[in-house]
Amino acid sequence: MEDEGLAPHVQEISRALGEKLSEEEIEKELRKYLEVYRLSLPMAKRTIVKKHGGDASGFAAGFQRKLAEIRPNEPNVDFVAKILSANTKEITAKGEKKTIMFGFIGDETTTLPWTAWETEGMELQKGDVISVKGAYTREYQGRVQVNFGNRISIKKEDPSTIGDIQIAQGPPKVVTIGQLREGMGYVEVKGRLLSVETREVTAKGEAKTIFSGVVADETGKVQFTAWSDFRLKQGDVVRISKATVKAWRGIPQLNFDERADLTVVKEKFPTAEELQKSGRSMISELAARGGASDATVEGVVIEVRDGSGLVMRCPECKRALQKGVCKVHGRVEGYPDLRIKATLDDGSGAVSLVIGRELTERLSGTTLDEGMAKAKEAMNFDVVKDMIDEKLTLKVMSVTGNVKSDEYGLSMIVKDAELPRREVKQEAEKLMVELEASE
Ligand SMILES: [Zn+2]
Repeated sequence: MEDEGLAPHVQEISRALGEKLSEEEIEKELRKYLEVYRLSLPMAKRTIVKKHGGDASGFAAGFQRKLAEIRPNEPNVDFVAKILSANTKEITAKGEKKTIMFGFIGDETTTLPWTAWETEGMELQKGDVISVKGAYTREYQGRVQVNFGNRISIKKEDPSTIGDIQIAQGPPKVVTIGQLREGMGYVEVKGRLLSVETREVTAKGEAKTIFSGVVADETGKVQFTAWSDFRLKQGDVVRISKATVKAWRGIPQLNFDERADLTVVKEKFPTAEELQKSGRSMISELAARGGASDATVEGVVIEVRDGSGLVMRCPECKRALQKGVCKVHGRVEGYPDLRIKATLDDGSGAVSLVIGRELTERLSGTTLDEGMAKAKEAMNFDVVKDMIDEKLTLKVMSVTGNVKSDEYGLSMIVKDAELPRREVKQEAEKLMVELEASE
């Protein structure tokens, strides 16, 4: 902190302490609390006043602060923030089962991870703006962690209290596209623009052109949105500095506006073709290309559609029967099969998935024979569809297959599918173990 920045605070402390301490001594002490103990400025001021017997009532700890001002290991923190993500998890702590919540909060200065240890009656959702009193903080891997313990008081605020969260301060972190995660603050990435599209939106009553598309390096691809005109050209290799990362259901997206620096880089870089071949594609990219063979996409299963689970097929043409009737061969004696029809969305677009018997058995954990037996027992043909629904809906899934594009949009005949564990959760779980150990 600059000297001139500290002067008014030193004077304020001096007034509260009378003649007890010279301004020089106050400044020295304030500096120690800020720089050595890493207390926040309000906490440091209060501590000094109290320590020297002054009246600290005007220095109440726990007035609202910006998230970027909050330091590790503070016992009592107040702030207003927006919940950027909220997840629930059952854990066993000290031999007892309990439900905790965790995610990210943000304000205009930064974002921080949060964990709530007492969740009874707590109804926090993504998008809520909350004013918080009595949180405490810890440090994990150099980052402040906000905890809601049993002294917490949370009030929901009008969401307009906080504008768009621009996670923004300090120098940007230089990362690869594969490393992008929500809540990183400013980032700098280098990549080739695989697609660029323009869109007209209305922002604050004014028509505005925004630019979106896919940017890629050897480690991955990401959907981006540019809120001002950087003359982006498909195929260019660009360095984007001071971009921010937002996540759509856990899938990172890159955002940048007029505050960002963008330079076109002239150096050796994998070609668009090489980048398209390797790794996974964004759905918007497949749509722009009009389909693809052997593409891999990762997204969220937003719907397991009707016609999933057990179906009866026509022995002549293999079409699924509707109430025992084939639309070509009429009423026939069908044979049973298993399949999934689902919609997968990665935040850039959606693709309709068709998954055959073998993969459906693996994903649902049920064979065709077991499914038939369960349906008979329950006297309900939809019992397998319900199981699939429970296993897949709102889960992140990675799928590979051929994608075609027609008047109904994109569809993929899935050859392989995986339900990867989301890394955000793994990181949060790791963090919780550490916190539990330090309690
Ligand atoms: Zn038929």
